[in-house]
Amino acid sequence: MLLPTRCAACDLPGPPLCPGCRDALVRLAPPLCGRCGSPSAWPVPRCAECSGRRIAFASARAAILYDAPARRLVQAWKERGQRRLARDAAALVGETLSRPDVAALAFVPADPDRALKRGHRPAESLARELGRLWELPVEPLLRRTRTVDRQRGLGLQARRRNVRGAFGAARASPRRVCLVDDVYTSGATAAAAASALRKGGARRVEVVTLARAVR
Ligand SMILES: [Zn+2]
Ligand SMILES: [Zn+2]
Repeated sequence: MLLPTRCAACDLPGPPLCPGCRDALVRLAPPLCGRCGSPSAWPVPRCAECSGRRIAFASARAAILYDAPARRLVQAWKERGQRRLARDAAALVGETLSRPDVAALAFVPADPDRALKRGHRPAESLARELGRLWELPVEPLLRRTRTVDRQRGLGLQARRRNVRGAFGAARASPRRVCLVDDVYTSGATAAAAASALRKGGARRVEVVTLARAVR
């Protein structure tokens, strides 16, 4: 039986992401910071957001700005777990970012408790859809070493502390790997996960997310 769907962003009956909302999502286009992908007035190798920090990833790129409509979309995707939304998310990434020059895609592993409650894993499902799109293998290279408090509502320092050492290598990583997650907020999760990939043997980690918060 086909259940009628509603747009995740505006709630109108129709596809899980209606064409109007899809068009309204703000694409993140250059010029960007070469490292963390923050929009800038001109291309820079490092920016105020990422300079002076040791970051284990070489670059981070996102397809869309994490604004209110993007937040509603990601929330619906996380809560309802619609497969169609993972495909829409991958299509947005594929339109905006070029295929990374890597041997495999990895993903930020879901918190087991939260994944169990929701029954799905957005970062993994995005990685799987992107793997299909880019014809790259998707490998579970990371594991969680401990439970982590919610990042939401925490300051920058607290976020970094909260996720530091939270990931470990589940298996040996190829030298060049792309880490996939749903949202890049402070970069703390991406940095911690990239650091674990490096410990697993990766020499270069690129990060790709659907959305990115901009400060
Ligand atoms: Zn809509
Ligand atoms: Zn930067």
